[in-house]
Amino acid sequence: MSNPSKKVINTICPYCGVGCGIGLQVSDGTVTGVEPLPQHPVSQGMLCVKGWSSAFALDPYDRIKTPLIKENGHFRPASWSEAYQLIVDSFQAIKQEHGPNALGLIACARATNEDCYAAQKFARTVLGTHNIDHCARICHSPSVAGLRQTLGSGAMTNSIDDIEKADLLVIFGCDPTENHSVLGGRMIQAQQAGTKLLVVDPRKTRLAKLADLHLQLNLGTNIALINGLINIIFSNGWEDKTFIEERCENIDALRKKVAGYPPKRVAEITGVPVDQLHAAAKMYSQSERTFLAYGMGITQYTSGTNNVIAISNLTLVTGQIGREGTGINPLRGQNNVQGACDMGALPNVFPGYQEALDATSQEKFGTAWKCEIPQQKGLTSLGMTSEALNGRFQGMIIMGEDPVVTDPDQNHVLRALEALDMLVVVELVMTETAKVADVILPAAAFAEKDGTFTNCERRVQRVRAAIPPPGDAKTDWQILGELAKLLGYDGMQWPNAEAVFDELAQLTPLYQGMSYDKLELDNGLQWPCNDATPDGTKLLHSGQFSRGKGRLIPVDHTDPAEMPDSDYPLYLTTTRLHYHYGCGSMTRKSPLLERETPSGVLFIHPDDARKLSIQAGTLLRISSRRGEVETRAVVTDDLPPGTVAMPYHFKEAPSNLLTNTAQDPVTKMPELKACAVKIEVVTEQ
Ligand code: SF4
Repeated sequence: MSNPSKKVINTICPYCGVGCGIGLQVSDGTVTGVEPLPQHPVSQGMLCVKGWSSAFALDPYDRIKTPLIKENGHFRPASWSEAYQLIVDSFQAIKQEHGPNALGLIACARATNEDCYAAQKFARTVLGTHNIDHCARICHSPSVAGLRQTLGSGAMTNSIDDIEKADLLVIFGCDPTENHSVLGGRMIQAQQAGTKLLVVDPRKTRLAKLADLHLQLNLGTNIALINGLINIIFSNGWEDKTFIEERCENIDALRKKVAGYPPKRVAEITGVPVDQLHAAAKMYSQSERTFLAYGMGITQYTSGTNNVIAISNLTLVTGQIGREGTGINPLRGQNNVQGACDMGALPNVFPGYQEALDATSQEKFGTAWKCEIPQQKGLTSLGMTSEALNGRFQGMIIMGEDPVVTDPDQNHVLRALEALDMLVVVELVMTETAKVADVILPAAAFAEKDGTFTNCERRVQRVRAAIPPPGDAKTDWQILGELAKLLGYDGMQWPNAEAVFDELAQLTPLYQGMSYDKLELDNGLQWPCNDATPDGTKLLHSGQFSRGKGRLIPVDHTDPAEMPDSDYPLYLTTTRLHYHYGCGSMTRKSPLLERETPSGVLFIHPDDARKLSIQAGTLLRISSRRGEVETRAVVTDDLPPGTVAMPYHFKEAPSNLLTNTAQDPVTKMPELKACAVKIEVVTEQ
């Protein structure tokens, strides 16, 4: 006889943007295990080790179960009403004294679309400001900005299934077998079935070792390399002339610009030999179908937006877009970073990328939300921390993000958060950021709430409550709705997650044709889904681009803001590891994942290690102009000499004590991929 207290609830993995389907095995109100879903269109019965371990993230032992208020430097439990009253009094006082722009909210790419929609609505209606942002700022904000300029839409143009339809996979500045492992596995399977593989990365990643060609370029030389490839393509007549003629604009300006990047000069800047540049240009342009995927090796630079534009130029001049098996495919990092952007948890756009300062959009949302829409430009997350240090920003809500660990220059972030009059953190567990909060509110985790996540291929998928939240924890949209009412706004009193979704779908043209009932069919729907495309859209830009013609925009190589010198002679780049995710607050609860890696490492080339008398496991002090960190060495030739790498998951060895806050001028993306450091051996007792 079956046990009625045992069940399997189908939902979505809470980790990366691939969005694999998982079945949560529930017994007596506890998640006891995870199983893959063979029928799921993306994961097809596969999960990576993080997905298999997702039940550990729900372990209640260290969960925050009640509101906490800090008194005399220590947290004490409080009731919801006491915590809310403290926040309301403080926010009202700040608003009265300093105005609405002294307040802001950081939403979360791990939260549901419903939570993120509520967050940006709360900022714009209740706080009265466009100061709303989230961690896309430090991963793919240049993709959104760059591709909107060139194509009109800043998302993955094709679908994950197109990996198997391509003749050539180009993996540019990303490491899918570490960070998007199921997708990386599908790439390896495609290669085994005959698809060619070209990898462009300063590191010898797993895919680079398998590749038909690996361009091991110098850190921060993406634009020079791409302009060089386009130069070779034009010189050999390998461009798609018909595609350029019919679907692109501004070709003459691009031709002029790339003429300044002859192969010899590009080889000098990038370190990639001319014959390899030539081979790559031929492979890319002459393949029938080239699927290009890229990651934060493109975006996390002061040139991030221009790097994305350069990728777009390459794709457009070769016509490798708008067809199955082709396209520009930014691999989004977190489970719902695509959705958080779609929901307008960004200072410059409402849901569906409708401009925040555009009069028509303002009228639309002002009417729908029955409020005055703020007129002043909003701050980014890093803008809020800078303004806090300048004394012009006093109150903030952070939903489920841990900027103390994940943002650049940790000391700067800590000083800014400590300078606030009121910091509210909505969290699952006591993170490094929660420790500096004035009030902590307990949040429901992914398996404790209904909602939707949107994966990297724009697939909006249902997330389902398998168990109740522990203690007094609530969903973010419930918390924000209750706070909104106390602050005098009635427009966020939704009875359930479905009501939030129905409201957001009505106001977001990309989601307009979706409902929870429709999402049940075929494991979600890919946006745009509306009257014209009721079954969703697998392929963007077939026939014409969202903006009409594809715009070719000439861009130039620029060096990273901080280069190695005699004081700090090595480049540091930051990476992620297969076994961990983000700040580690979820993955590090799994003994299985925690067993696999020591808590913090520095990867260093054998030549550099030899010069500094470093061996595997040697304790090192790594210093930059912003701080220093101690961790142990891993000696590997996966990196080029002169470049060292650290993962950012570990609070014991936070690479972001070292990283640089220099920013991309368009998106304010900090340069997390390159800064200068020095290394010393620490003498152990
Ligand atoms: Fe989860 Fe990503 Fe792994 Fe899939 S690939 S199981 S979504 S972490």
